[in-house]
Amino acid sequence: MFDNLSGRLAEAARSLTGKGRLTESNIKDTLRQVRLALLEADVALPVVKTFIERIREQAVGEVVGRSLTPGQELVKIIHAELVTLLGSETAPLDLRAQPPVVLFLAGLQGAGKTTTAAKLARRLIEKDKKRVAMVSVDVHRPAAILQLQTLAGEVGANFIESQSSEDPRAIVDRALDESRRTHVDVLLVDTAGRLHVDDDMMNEVVAVHERAKPHETFFVIDSMAGQDAVNSARVFNERLPLTGVILTKTDGDAKGGVALSVSEVTGKPIRFIGVGEKTDALEVFHPDRMASRILG
Ligand code: GDP
Repeated sequence: MFDNLSGRLAEAARSLTGKGRLTESNIKDTLRQVRLALLEADVALPVVKTFIERIREQAVGEVVGRSLTPGQELVKIIHAELVTLLGSETAPLDLRAQPPVVLFLAGLQGAGKTTTAAKLARRLIEKDKKRVAMVSVDVHRPAAILQLQTLAGEVGANFIESQSSEDPRAIVDRALDESRRTHVDVLLVDTAGRLHVDDDMMNEVVAVHERAKPHETFFVIDSMAGQDAVNSARVFNERLPLTGVILTKTDGDAKGGVALSVSEVTGKPIRFIGVGEKTDALEVFHPDRMASRILG
């Protein structure tokens, strides 16, 4: 991820070589390059505009420290702004509530919800020593239920069965009862996804959410998807009280626009990133590390 964007930002910073300090005029072309680089990486336009404006305000008139060239100074400013854009803080899972703590995953089909549910389960079992159960309410796709069952077996989580003939709300009620009865610490609810947001899907996921009353509601988003995915993030955020975003497939060659737009568009922090297909390929999200990665 970010390969092209990193190269383009480095190039923009290099264009300041030989300049004594950052000024309104010498930074103009450079900021145009930064703007283009962000747009090419599919960062949402309003996000690009705000970002460039913040950099301009800070850069102009900045007295260059003795050890920094204007290029380095600009990189420093961009780094700080990227961290702000990416949400500044790392927020770990809060597992202190009365068990079962319910974690809810929503998002479009193919975003990586089921895989991410398994990754979270593995992390909770291995690292936090929790008893974990998983349930799928994707009554539209029996294959999705089966996939979750296989993954639950792989990571050592309890699998709570569900049938495609059942009402998703009834599945949630049953899963909560079963989790209480079997002293499960964390229940992961994997929901149905469609290729595009539609009313039926949103109404269903909202109804299931109301029943599950989760402690964490994650929006799972594929970093390889384009602007459409960011628009879907906006819709999900309007309908569900999201507590965070999980960004998947950051190991691929995504341009990076989704990563840079999603927090700003939803106002919710990225909490975890998927870094591969295997069930151990999940990392806590660190905005500063991601900013450094973007700047190469
Ligand atoms: P769902 O429809 O949202 O439940 O999506 P799935 O969990 O079935 O994932 C769709 C595809 O994306 C699968 O082939 C996963 O292996 C793959 N996938 C999910 N997360 C990642 C990730 O972080 N990296 C990579 N490379 N592939 C991923």
